Amino acid sequence: MELTALLLDGITDYALVALDPWGRVQAWGRGAERVYGFPGDAMVGERWDRLFLPHDGAAGRPGALLELALRHGRHEEEALRVRRDGSTFWAHAVLTPLRGERGEVRGFAEVARDVTDRREAEQALRRLSDARSAVRARDEFLALAAHELKTPLTALGLNLQAMVRASHRKPAEVVATLAARTERLQRHVDRMSGLVETLLDVGRVASGQLELRIQDGDVAQVAARVASRCVEERGGRCCVDLDAPEPVPGRFDPHRVEQVLFALLDNGLKYGGGGPVQLSVRADGRRARVAVRDQGIGIAPEDQERIFQRFERAAPATQYGGFGFGLWAARQLVKAHGGEIRVRSAPGEGSTFEVLLPLCPKR
Ligand code: ADP
Repeated sequence: MELTALLLDGITDYALVALDPWGRVQAWGRGAERVYGFPGDAMVGERWDRLFLPHDGAAGRPGALLELALRHGRHEEEALRVRRDGSTFWAHAVLTPLRGERGEVRGFAEVARDVTDRREAEQALRRLSDARSAVRARDEFLALAAHELKTPLTALGLNLQAMVRASHRKPAEVVATLAARTERLQRHVDRMSGLVETLLDVGRVASGQLELRIQDGDVAQVAARVASRCVEERGGRCCVDLDAPEPVPGRFDPHRVEQVLFALLDNGLKYGGGGPVQLSVRADGRRARVAVRDQGIGIAPEDQERIFQRFERAAPATQYGGFGFGLWAARQLVKAHGGEIRVRSAPGEGSTFEVLLPLCPKR
């Protein structure tokens, strides 16, 4: 047997294939038989297009690969190929042009290997690592949630103890203490209800159980409500510039839109470095365009997509409290309305979050 024939016969781990300049098979090694399942006599003289997925073949991929190999001296890739029985596998393939003495193209050689097992192992590892980070994120979230709930709960306990002590005093004193304390108790209870509502939303939004209650409303009015709520919650110690000169009527879920705008404005004030936050609302064709602009710490480009994922945070946790839930929920809620939410920002230069909300959602 000639050395070339021995080579084609001897190498069984790799599919060795020689093609003519037009992509017709000229030599088909034993490894190619094993990897692709075609015997040599079925392939020699045939176009190598048979080894590609039908849509790759129709899109002219086999010819394009020959071109690429010619242009760059070789072409290497991992792609799906097709076996004789129609099943597919991941092939790592290197295609090299074969040139004659004067540099003329005499054909191509391809060496390919089935790497499906390795890719599946890599995918399994990736899934495992994703699952581990999801568990880590959940644990961090639970720790944060417990911590956030503990603060108002402790305050609640202290106030109740004070009330019990006061109840042993004279009736007039009891009444005076009660009035002052119950107001504080109410604030702590409100804060805890808000937190519990957030916790419930994590589950509802994640399992897609969120039902929108679409009704007539005015986005400008919702924005005004959100602005005064944020200012009130901070005891007036912040500045929101509301720019909503006209009503922006539409059909949407006012409670959920309020939740979205609240999350954005609350973040603007939290991460805004104490400066004023602008909240503007305009009608833009069939959509409402709401922008929340602050002049605070800003967000690095590599974090701008990540922060919309569940429990993802970019600001230092020691400095800023939070769950990493608001933007994720906001995006889910805006999407549920058929709208979009995006951010423009640069570190140290503030951030602008923009919501585009369809005013007549499809039902
Ligand atoms: P939380 O504020 O509770 O951490 P969010 O989902 O609302 O969660 O925000 C996710 C992260 O996005 C924040 O932790 C913060 O790093 C970043 N972020 C959100 N809004 C702003 C903003 N206006 N300026 C700077 N960073 C922001």
